[in-house]
Amino acid sequence: MPSFSHSKIGAFETCKLKYKFAYIDKIKVEVEDTIETYLGSMVHEALEKLYRDKRFEKLMTLEELLAYYNKLWEENWKDSIIIVKKDYTPDNYRKMGERQLTDYYNKHKSFDQGRIIGLETQDFLPLDEQGKYKFHIRIDRLMDMGDGLYEVHDYKTGSSLSKQEELDKDRQLAMYSQWVRQNFKDFNKVRLVWHFLAFDKEMDSYRTKEELENLREEILSQIADIESTEDFPANVSWLCDWCLYKSICPMWKHEVELEEKPENEYLNDPGLKLVDAYVKLKEKIDAYRIDAEGELEKIREALIAFCEREGMQVVSGSESKISVKSFKTIKLPRKNTKERAELIDTLKKLGRLEEVSSFNTYAWVKILEKKEWEKDELDQLEGFWTAKKNYRLTVYEK
Ligand code: SF4
Repeated sequence: MPSFSHSKIGAFETCKLKYKFAYIDKIKVEVEDTIETYLGSMVHEALEKLYRDKRFEKLMTLEELLAYYNKLWEENWKDSIIIVKKDYTPDNYRKMGERQLTDYYNKHKSFDQGRIIGLETQDFLPLDEQGKYKFHIRIDRLMDMGDGLYEVHDYKTGSSLSKQEELDKDRQLAMYSQWVRQNFKDFNKVRLVWHFLAFDKEMDSYRTKEELENLREEILSQIADIESTEDFPANVSWLCDWCLYKSICPMWKHEVELEEKPENEYLNDPGLKLVDAYVKLKEKIDAYRIDAEGELEKIREALIAFCEREGMQVVSGSESKISVKSFKTIKLPRKNTKERAELIDTLKKLGRLEEVSSFNTYAWVKILEKKEWEKDELDQLEGFWTAKKNYRLTVYEK
């Protein structure tokens, strides 16, 4: 029975080539972890131990928890772990974990809310009636809170905080909630809880039966898509820096080759030379464009002033001529503002809203400047608009 997990489907969504490396070719790479996933694993293991002890009526002190975490960190550390953000050392990350555990410990201290049902619970949830596909379940902590309320707890050690709307659409915990529904007949409600440890913040969400059914169908359709795919193109993005397959990815071949070259050959690399030349020239052009645009604006203003002063519209150069035409625009209150709502209200009262429903600036110029409406109507619109004179410059050949 093929099984799918949140991360397996996620890999397909972010980069099909990465999916192929990991789940079809099952390539084993030397680099097994990034520092972020390492930090996550160590914190998860420490919290698992805290709650496992609690099941045996043994409450770890904060000092014991941190000592356990630091021991895990030392014992499992490998120098091959990737650190993308070069400004930070492994010790910075280790301390981040210490802080996260300390905040979590102090917040939940007695750890006696509810009954622990499972820690790092692993199982599979059948996705279709025939039992052909299943979803991998791995719950950080499952709690029975009494009266049919279950809680699925998930620890997040990353430095980004999800928005509520993202959690309300989260696939992973939603499927865990379906697993709870299927396995505990006394369930009444499942609360999905995320602990954003770096922010000392707890967020939650719930799912209805209908939402879970829709999600199941969506996952089955994604699986059908995955199974019918024959082409696995790379999707280069900022996430590549965290991809464990970057060293074998053809898209990044040049970077890997450069890293392996001695310095004298490195500087003669044709790709490196091309990139350096491109960047240098682009920087020059960008700097020139900024200066030139400022200069162009000054000349434009001088041309407009020249035409205004001389009372003419066309100015001749040696091979070209420029026409300087003025036109008016009307500035009205912006959409979704109190003033805009008041204007709409006034127009409705005047029975004129339909005539200007698109709020086209030319229509307003005609109405307000050429005074096409009655005077008392125009008086009521005073204060809602301002007129602005603009200029259009067009270059012609002589
Ligand atoms: S390095 Fe980037 S493009 Fe290559 S497999 Fe990984 S995610 Fe995909």
